[in-house]
Amino acid sequence: MRAVETGKKPVLSAEIFVIPIEADRFLVYAPLRRAAFVGNAGAVNFLADLREGRGDSGAGHDGEMIEFLRRLEIVDAGPETPPLAVFSDDPNPVSVTLFLTTACNLRCAYCYAAAGEGAARHMPPELARRGVDFVVGNALARGEDHFEINFHGGGEPTRNWPTLTKTLAHARRLADAHELRLTAYLATNAVLSAKRLDWVVANLHGASVSCDGPPEVHDANRVTPGGKGSSASVIRTLRRFDAEDFPYGIRMTVTADAIPRLADSVEYLCANFRPGQIQAEPAYPIGRGAGAASAETAAFVAAFREAQGRARRHGRELTFSGARVGTLTNHFCAATQDLFALTPDGSVSSCYEVFEESSPRAKIFLYGASAGAGGGWRFDREKLAFLRRQSVDRRAHCAGCFARWSCGGDCYHKALTVHDDGEFAGTDRCDIIRELTRDQILARIADSGGVFWHEPPERIAAEGCACVSCGDEGRIMTGRGVKKPDRGCV
Ligand code: SF4
Ligand code: SF4
Repeated sequence: MRAVETGKKPVLSAEIFVIPIEADRFLVYAPLRRAAFVGNAGAVNFLADLREGRGDSGAGHDGEMIEFLRRLEIVDAGPETPPLAVFSDDPNPVSVTLFLTTACNLRCAYCYAAAGEGAARHMPPELARRGVDFVVGNALARGEDHFEINFHGGGEPTRNWPTLTKTLAHARRLADAHELRLTAYLATNAVLSAKRLDWVVANLHGASVSCDGPPEVHDANRVTPGGKGSSASVIRTLRRFDAEDFPYGIRMTVTADAIPRLADSVEYLCANFRPGQIQAEPAYPIGRGAGAASAETAAFVAAFREAQGRARRHGRELTFSGARVGTLTNHFCAATQDLFALTPDGSVSSCYEVFEESSPRAKIFLYGASAGAGGGWRFDREKLAFLRRQSVDRRAHCAGCFARWSCGGDCYHKALTVHDDGEFAGTDRCDIIRELTRDQILARIADSGGVFWHEPPERIAAEGCACVSCGDEGRIMTGRGVKKPDRGCV
């Protein structure tokens, strides 16, 4: 061990979190430096001394340790830059999400939307067109070369086939006329006729498919109104997608009952299909799933770990929305970043769970409406400002959480559901997020040679989040022009 000879007092230059992992072993994590290593109590005490300003000129300190911390930018690297996405003015998105209908051909036991119950609302083609015209106008005004449409739920979007197909035809005409690139995605339960499947494959750019695993697992919850399992149709759709090399991801919803089968379910999906991504989320106990046993448990974490290992053996990645160490952001999803989603009746929503005016949190998440026949949209600036303020950097409870700059504060809708609009005090999902985030950090250390992990700053710029990360079951882009890989809604 050599002492630092420079005479310069080392200064801690990173926000540091220390996470115990086993006896006398701690994970030291500097999220904004994207750096981490595993150290003992001595290393932790050394960092505590630095934090308290007790680091002296170096004499008496371990010089190699200081050099090591300098390499990781934890010491003497100047101020950090938190990823604070700032929004102002009215939204001018180049992406529109259309909640085409509340009708559904299934009655999934855990459906957040309780879709299929009550009178269905269908979006008329004129309304969808107005949404498309708006994002095309924005793309032209902003000098972008593309725009995007997401056909989404509240029900099964393909149940409003006329609006879906007419909207795409209209969007295509505009794309051709203005030489813009159009991308269109669909979130679907994959129970489609062969003819509609032909159309999807021929006309769309990707889909997110809800599928929970092998027939006995999938059919336990994803059933027709008559109670019949839907797996046969889903399998047919996935096989067709694979045969055509059509891009798609699979979204698995994991109920408490299905947790013990999660690894086998992932194995089944990997062995039989070729999805670009598989995402598993514990069932959200709202809608038809309200009152079901919670799946946000330690058992989910254990099952997820095993399932992840199985997916890797097939060369695939299993994801969970809240754990994403590759991302730096102060927002979890588009709900607080100006998602432009239209309900069947023409309100503007920022949340996938809020797809109609009677949704429980409509007052918070519906922030605009059509300006009428003259075109354009009216936005409620106050509501918008409130939503934009719901970022992790403003939340006291999250200040001490090591996952905060990747989690971004998790699902705001969930937080409201759990805390009944009161002060956020954490949810059961937080434990899952922290456990799986910790796994990811340790995996990065292991992948980097086993001693430390440190990403070059240019990687931060590439992956840093000034955009949206929530994709729910689709692929979403807020209009700030940055495309992110799918991220799941809860
Ligand atoms: S406390 Fe929960 S919501 Fe907040 S950053 Fe941590 S894991 Fe995310
Ligand atoms: S993650 Fe939560 S807040 Fe965001 S869109 Fe989905 S339900 Fe809404």
